[in-house]
Amino acid sequence: TVTLEVLDRWVRLSAARLTTEADRLTALDSAIGDADHGTNMLRGFTAIVAKLDATPPQTVPEFFKAVGMTLVSKVGGASGSLYGTLFLDMGKNAPAGASMSAAEWAHALSAGVAAVVARGHAQSGDKTMIDAFGPALEALDTALSSGRTLADAAAAAADAAEQGSADTEPLVARKGRASYLGERSVGHVDPGSASTALLLRAFADAAA
Ligand code: ADP
Ligand code: MG
Ligand code: MG
Repeated sequence: TVTLEVLDRWVRLSAARLTTEADRLTALDSAIGDADHGTNMLRGFTAIVAKLDATPPQTVPEFFKAVGMTLVSKVGGASGSLYGTLFLDMGKNAPAGASMSAAEWAHALSAGVAAVVARGHAQSGDKTMIDAFGPALEALDTALSSGRTLADAAAAAADAAEQGSADTEPLVARKGRASYLGERSVGHVDPGSASTALLLRAFADAAA
């Protein structure tokens, strides 16, 4: 079961990890973007923690809405709007109440990612966060439909996201700022795919 407590632990763990990983994400973005991805994500998740402290959400949809609105208002750039969309649409696709089942979690995540695709128009292989989310959703579905626990399925999803992110290195960027570099984007991991892997690993650890 994905309780509000698990969700709260997830974003706090994400914020803590972003504190130590922001420089790495920004370094990735300095190679093929504008060197702000780590700073953007850390600013957003720091604001989320402050928001949750000030106004603890009472339901799962409220939780996702608070996270999504904070990302949209505090992050800016491509990732603020895309991660904001992810969480806002997860909220629209989550059941009312203080917890959700593993299947409901997978459904909400998949709807959130579909909204990111609808907004950003990235296909798999375009060297974006979708290259981490896509394999993660597949792994999550496979694991849950073969009867594995939430913790196991979430770990499999995080593994797949990390592999998907690593696999962006040889790709030519076709969306976002990195696409301005064309072939020169080859040889670098996409920063947004790396932050997606970080977030999904934090979820797995929060659900374990
Ligand atoms: P900005 O590019 O505005 O500075 P960030 O550096 O915070 O924003 O985020 C860049 C990341 O956003 C990229 O590494 C990529 O993963 C993701 N991204 C950019 N454009 C898109 C898009 N159209 N669809 C999906 N993800 C995208
Ligand atoms: Mg950037
Ligand atoms: Mg920027």
